[in-house]
Amino acid sequence: MDFKELQEKDKTFIANTYSRFSAEIYEGEGATLRAEDGKEYIDFGSGIAVNSFGVNDRIWKDAVIAQINKVQHASNHYYTQPQAELAELLCKKTGAKKVFFSNSGAEANECAIKAARKYSFDKYGEGRYHIVTLKNSFHGRTMATLSATGQDSLHRYFMPFLDGFSYADLTFEGVKKECGRGTCAVMLELVQGEGGVNALDVTEVKKIEKYCKEKDVLLVIDEVQTGNGRTGSLYAYMQYGILPDIVTTAKGLAGGLPLGATMFFEKCEHTLTAGDHGSTFGGNPVACAGALSILSRIDEKLLLEVQGKSAYLRTYVGRMPNVLGVSGLGLMVGIEIAKNAREVAEKCLERGLIVLTAKNKLRLLPPLTIKKGEIDAGLKILNEVLSE
Ligand SMILES: *Cc1c(COP(=O)(O)O)cnc(C)c1O
Repeated sequence: MDFKELQEKDKTFIANTYSRFSAEIYEGEGATLRAEDGKEYIDFGSGIAVNSFGVNDRIWKDAVIAQINKVQHASNHYYTQPQAELAELLCKKTGAKKVFFSNSGAEANECAIKAARKYSFDKYGEGRYHIVTLKNSFHGRTMATLSATGQDSLHRYFMPFLDGFSYADLTFEGVKKECGRGTCAVMLELVQGEGGVNALDVTEVKKIEKYCKEKDVLLVIDEVQTGNGRTGSLYAYMQYGILPDIVTTAKGLAGGLPLGATMFFEKCEHTLTAGDHGSTFGGNPVACAGALSILSRIDEKLLLEVQGKSAYLRTYVGRMPNVLGVSGLGLMVGIEIAKNAREVAEKCLERGLIVLTAKNKLRLLPPLTIKKGEIDAGLKILNEVLSE
């Protein structure tokens, strides 16, 4: 199918919810993607922080295919090895006590919201259900996670939203102001992704953590985007030096397969009980086998490489024309520019580089395993486009 034909079919039959860029992704290798007609792209997006080890990673593929050759799905009424092994690995690497598996970031957060409310209900009875999130946050597209999302632009059309959320300024004082007697949880991204790649201040986050502990308000960290090595530590909370009560993750976890995880730490490990929550596809054995292959290879050596690549990228991007600032952590890079981000992203694409945007920033989320040659090729294109 040629590209024109594909675009026409897509436009005719697919709900018009995405303003797609003009490129087909057909196949690839590492951080190099190709359309069917052979046009190549350097990938500074990994989907959106999903393809952690790039495309066609041999070890990941072997693990996924081996599981497909055994069984592709089993109901959660039965046991499967990849799910139990992945939960064990997540707990060992984080100190979490229990994991609930779903299929996406929104679902991982949905589970966290339910668990936070139940924790509070069990301990304090009815009425303590309010959750504080941050202005400019993004927690997903379901009704509950949209309600949790602190962006006015997303709170349209679908009224009424779920009751019991309010949005704080990105500081300790801001959060404290929104917390009251009915508050059961504070939920935040340590680096706001969709909101413009803003890393929260470590001191503020530590104060929020302390306050939550004092008030028995659960601290929920949304690591859907920041998790799984993306920021240079396995999870971003680790470099903030905090101990959350719930951590959610998804995007990069299974290296490209849909998988969400909600990790419960000590306080709420027993909160959810049989019948409280569930998912038909959640914790699918193929996705879990993929995640085991990714997670077991995010070791100190890889994290050091991520940090090195991050420093390298940031240094070079910081020197480019029309760049006003570089934000984010690790391989989650925001670039504030004196140009229209969408137009820059389109021009990059024409020349063979995929970059993402977040608000009016460029956003780079390359595969963790991107090679130096690929980084340099991508930076060359970005520099050309920004120089115009
Ligand atoms: C992408 C994202 C989500 C939503 O994940 P989906 O898999 O699209 O449901 C939630 N929180 C954060 C921080 C995200 O970046």
